Amino acid sequence: MSMFERAKRRRNLQEGYPEDKGLKDGHCNRSGCLAPLAGQPQYSMMDHETFTDARLFYCKPCADRFTAWDESIKSPIRCRPEQ
Ligand SMILES: [Zn+2]
Repeated sequence: MSMFERAKRRRNLQEGYPEDKGLKDGHCNRSGCLAPLAGQPQYSMMDHETFTDARLFYCKPCADRFTAWDESIKSPIRCRPEQ
């Protein structure tokens, strides 16, 4: 388990969320969503706030909302489909 994943799991539990929130095959990282990701299309976003190589995972509907926002403010698209 990476340092990022360890820290993220600890923070999720402290905040009362599913332990695997924002992790691949876990739960969507958006707090108002938390959709299960296993077996679903998953999108990741770099998490620049904590660790340089960390990625947070989101479901497709949430990724589409982020992308629509990024496009509306002419910002680089943050969410990428997970291969
Ligand atoms: Zn979601």
